[in-house]
Amino acid sequence: MNPQSAHQPRILLIYTGGTIGMIENPDTKSLQPFDFDHLIDNVPKLRMLNYVIDNVSFNPPIDSSDMCPEHWEDICRVVENNYHLYDGFVVLHGTDTMAYTASALSFMLENLRKPVIITGSQLPIGEVRTDGEENLITAVQIAAAVDRHGDPMVQEVAILFENYLWRGNRATKRSADNFNAFKSHNYPQLAKIGLDINFDEDALFRHHNREPLKVHYGLDSSIVVIDLYPGLRKEALIHALDTPGTKGVVLRTFGAGNAPTSPWIAEALHHANERGLVVVNVTQCVGGAVVQGRYAASDALAANGVVSGADITTEAAIAKMMFLFGQGLTAAEVGRKMTQPICGEMSLPSSDE
Ligand code: ASP
Repeated sequence: MNPQSAHQPRILLIYTGGTIGMIENPDTKSLQPFDFDHLIDNVPKLRMLNYVIDNVSFNPPIDSSDMCPEHWEDICRVVENNYHLYDGFVVLHGTDTMAYTASALSFMLENLRKPVIITGSQLPIGEVRTDGEENLITAVQIAAAVDRHGDPMVQEVAILFENYLWRGNRATKRSADNFNAFKSHNYPQLAKIGLDINFDEDALFRHHNREPLKVHYGLDSSIVVIDLYPGLRKEALIHALDTPGTKGVVLRTFGAGNAPTSPWIAEALHHANERGLVVVNVTQCVGGAVVQGRYAASDALAANGVVSGADITTEAAIAKMMFLFGQGLTAAEVGRKMTQPICGEMSLPSSDE
């Protein structure tokens, strides 16, 4: 028996805004967020699914460029308050910061055993060629999908866009105009969407405990992100590391985690380390991993307390640091946890590191 046939799936849509629900401002011609009724009126096919579909909307809906940790908490609160009432959750969200939100939610929703599927679109739902209708319907179907035991097929935060379902904390927005706007360069797709929705069950996250959902609020955004580039000035680096109130740094390096070997860089990192800053090394490459020590050009980083983020994305590294500092952990604990996966956001570092 198909377990889905015995039960009418209950899905909660959480509308935060984004292009999917936007309309053109008649005066400026720029796209701006619009209300949920407009969005849902444009997807009459949702009714054909015969699911119970309820909704909650941000008031007002936002362009995801305005997304911030307080909004992540709002989304988590809706999931927590409705966790036992629905089989799955679909978050409608702008694409610009979708990967940050997906990463943050993955850390905040500990022991999640239901699908939280985030989607949006490149063209507004009211446009004839919109990708929003298909994305929304597919996301709802994925949120309702069950495995052969009748358990939710997806038990994690994931991003659905066009032809693929990606682990949320592994995905990156890779195109501002392609319908396949997201990709995970270091982790396989969770599902391929074509005529059917084909899940890769080996890639899906599964818990090894029986603990109930635990939602972590209180992120701490006392971090800075520093990009290395040829020509970076000493004053600029020192200024960034000295930003008042900073507890952690996501240092975006070259290739396998390399940096210029100028002594002032090592010195600046040494002082940062002495002041108790956690500095995590994340590569600027979209694929591959940091391996400190592979090149001499990363020796000074490791020697001055910089920890390796392995193959984590920048988005996930930022969200993870905010999450860990928000838990009130010491710098040493945050540094250690940045090197180990919590919920599938990074591959285990190889033993020679
Ligand atoms: N600026 C929009 C947003 O992120 C872009 C989109 O949704 O695709 O809200």
